[in-house]
Amino acid sequence: SYSAESAQSVAPVSQTLFTRAAAVTPGGVNSPVRAFGAVGGTPRFMVSGAGPYLTDADGREYVDLVCSWGPMILGHSHPAVLEAVRAAVERGTSFGTPTPGEVELAEEIVSRVAPVERVRLVSSGTEATMSAIRLARGFTGRAKVIKFAGCYHGHVDALLAAAGSGVATFGLPDTPGVTGAQAGETVVLPYNDLAAVRAAFEANPGEIACVITEAVPGNMGVVPPRPGFNQGLKDLCAQHGALLISDEVMTGFRISGAGWFGVEGVVPDLITFGKVMGGGFPAAAFGGRADVMDRLAPAGPVYQAGTLSGNPVATAAGLAQLRLLDDAAYARLDATSAELRGLASEALAKEGVAHTVSAAGNMFSIFFTADEVTDFAGAKRQDTFRYTAFFHAMLERGVYLPPSAFEAWFVSTAHDERALERIAAALPEAARAAA
Ligand code: PLP
Repeated sequence: SYSAESAQSVAPVSQTLFTRAAAVTPGGVNSPVRAFGAVGGTPRFMVSGAGPYLTDADGREYVDLVCSWGPMILGHSHPAVLEAVRAAVERGTSFGTPTPGEVELAEEIVSRVAPVERVRLVSSGTEATMSAIRLARGFTGRAKVIKFAGCYHGHVDALLAAAGSGVATFGLPDTPGVTGAQAGETVVLPYNDLAAVRAAFEANPGEIACVITEAVPGNMGVVPPRPGFNQGLKDLCAQHGALLISDEVMTGFRISGAGWFGVEGVVPDLITFGKVMGGGFPAAAFGGRADVMDRLAPAGPVYQAGTLSGNPVATAAGLAQLRLLDDAAYARLDATSAELRGLASEALAKEGVAHTVSAAGNMFSIFFTADEVTDFAGAKRQDTFRYTAFFHAMLERGVYLPPSAFEAWFVSTAHDERALERIAAALPEAARAAA
């Protein structure tokens, strides 16, 4: 139901900006999924955000169900976060020295997430997973990495094999620029398949440095781990002298105060964080067992560094956000997410649209298939053309969903009854468009 003309009429300023952007930036965007490649049409250029709402350059307001792909868990422009940022900026923006704030943020993470005895701050989730893998290789003296198809861990060379997120959206099996040598040390397995992991360990004796997995995959859409899957990974790693890296960049401090670890309790060797812990600024981290983390320079020989690591403004934003995330906040997120899932599912059912709500805590996606999705192959069997129709109908009615069927929907504590009413008002027509 989408047409180029309707975008011209509803988003002329975004359209002009997109044309200008495409002349100076590859594809007109600084991260591929933003380009609306999967759903077509003009990406909306946003100029401001307040609570659960975003406003685009044409002055249209949207209920935001992307939340900057996860970080904005308190909604946009939260006063406490803005105040912390203003105070930090007044003191200076970067010193390239240790600062008190980064100690506080590290203490906050260590006190919340029990398996994290030591933590190193970095600036993006990609850096966190890249560094965790280097450390696992340095610690074990082994080269190979097991990852799962559909899991996305950032644009780390060795991990861009059968990755989710933008890589899934664009249907790329991998990417030019990653050498055969790098990809060759990555063993890609189907998600939720412990037998495949066991077989891979047996086929590569003494060679697997680590298994990296999203604690709950959110980058092929949300696909919860089967009960016992993560524990099974831990047991196999322990048995074969490999490390388990749980990627909580998306789930960390979102699903609970201790992320997915706080729900499931499986103890990985290393955990990666990003998104929520930066309060909307570039801050991320990796941490875990002290004996492993202490191999990092300058405590140990494995090199890792960053000019802006532990940046005082990002640290202040992250700390302010984390300190507001108490049990009441998580209860509210869970309730909002459950209500939204119910509303969407009800509207789709009314129109007879086959779908599956796939959730883990407050994170969820709706797959346009009647079948339960347990892996990437299952996620790809959905009717993505129905999502495209649904997405545009919601967008036209002022609801901003992820511009791809392979992404999680995010809510914030700022999503209130008014925001949910707006979504509820848009859903019937969008369900009809998807039918
Ligand atoms: N790991 C997971 C699970 C993610 O979802 C992402 C980003 O979406 C990353 C790593 C990479 O983080 P960043 O985009 O900050 O590099």
